[in-house]
Amino acid sequence: MDASDRSERLAVGRERRAGREARRRPPFHPMRSAAIIAGKTTATATRLLRVGGGTSLPGLVADRVHPGLVRELAEQVSDGFVIVTGTNGKTTTTKMLAGILRRDGTRVISNDSGSNLHRGISSSLVSSADILGRSLGGADMAVLEVDEGSMPDVASDVRPRVALAMNFVRDQLDRYGEVDTIVATVGRTLDAHPGMTTVLNADDPYVAGLARHARGPVVHYGVDDPGLDARPDPLLEAMYCRSCGCELAFRKRYYGHNGDWRCPRCGQQRPRLDYAATDVELTPRSSAFTLRGRGESVRIELPVPALYNVYNALAAASAACVAGASTEAVAGELTAYHAAFGRMETLDVDGRDCILLLSKNPVAARQALAAVLVGDEPKHLAFALNDNFADGRDISWIWDVDFEDYDLSRHTVAATGTRAEDMALRLKYAGVPADDILVERDVSAALRALVRDMPPGGLAHALATYTAMIAIRNAFAGDGSTFTHLGRLMRRGNA
Ligand SMILES: [Zn+2]
Repeated sequence: MDASDRSERLAVGRERRAGREARRRPPFHPMRSAAIIAGKTTATATRLLRVGGGTSLPGLVADRVHPGLVRELAEQVSDGFVIVTGTNGKTTTTKMLAGILRRDGTRVISNDSGSNLHRGISSSLVSSADILGRSLGGADMAVLEVDEGSMPDVASDVRPRVALAMNFVRDQLDRYGEVDTIVATVGRTLDAHPGMTTVLNADDPYVAGLARHARGPVVHYGVDDPGLDARPDPLLEAMYCRSCGCELAFRKRYYGHNGDWRCPRCGQQRPRLDYAATDVELTPRSSAFTLRGRGESVRIELPVPALYNVYNALAAASAACVAGASTEAVAGELTAYHAAFGRMETLDVDGRDCILLLSKNPVAARQALAAVLVGDEPKHLAFALNDNFADGRDISWIWDVDFEDYDLSRHTVAATGTRAEDMALRLKYAGVPADDILVERDVSAALRALVRDMPPGGLAHALATYTAMIAIRNAFAGDGSTFTHLGRLMRRGNA
């Protein structure tokens, strides 16, 4: 970054700081205090009584007592809100983004424990305020992961400064309906907030199409690496031009429907990239890329495999730059993310390393397989399939994953989770002899059995749906405490 950019950024920072203190001391308002006390009491009560729905109730109660409370609280966050949405990678990207901004000295609050629905977010904001309704932990900025369907309500509450949209894929159809509905919902949100900067994944035609709804500045990011061996996977759904309806063509497809696309009929094409990942390198344990943007380029090394993690890091870096972070903070955090990220995604299972990969839909599962099955040596793989509400009750998507493209019989495989038998059946159809599949519903027992014959320090992989992943983390992630209170709290300050 050049010197004038930097001094401009610092000047803006000084101006903001001057306004901050005034905003953090709103005058006493009895109904606001009553609402916050009601919300906090509800939170404590639901926790003590272990009532289901405890994460959404406090926000609902507080809002009934004093409508508009969440908006008032949000206004105290001086540098505003950044909201992150998309089907895959929201949680990881939100964590990375908050980390980058914190490294730059910004006090950030975030819902990085995964509660991303409207009422859950309201509840988190209420519980992080003091009873006078002051200062959300003294935050300068808030970074929120937001479920696509909750975008209009959350945006109306917090009036975001920046919105990041990452990807839209078929996922949990029983909860959300078609992708087009999701795109329309997010598009409506952009329409309603003209002051907001929108950061879009240019490689996903659905996401790139949102630009027409944006009434503020639009920033595009994408992968630019025509030489990358991205293991072409078949398109799971044909993609059509938003302007003329013609089927889109790809100069290069990276994964799912993400790539350098264009319309053969009307000439619509992937927008020019403001931030690009080039020279991508992928191994079973790690990934790396060069981040280009703002006339600079910096090499980013990630301790996790898979191209979708490159997309996550690129999304976080782009949104962080738009929110005002320095390139130094971006590079520093994503590189240093090593430890924190590694701890979270690589677990110790009886002295062996187990890399955990979220695989909750065909695109994510396909990418996880491609990431893991690099090289010739036999692998140890667990497929953990749950069908709880948060996973989507319909598990038929496993039949859309092209397990057949790999010779899985060469590897040691386990099928686990609440639908272990369905997973085993799928693997059997993919050519793994039934007797060779370790079937065990209990995820921790399955992982222990999977690694039993491996040498100490060996590497296994677990591909898991959402709640199966939480269960595995709870069983093996050190103290486990980070993951037991799913969606309960906002993490405060610079911790
Ligand atoms: Zn067209």
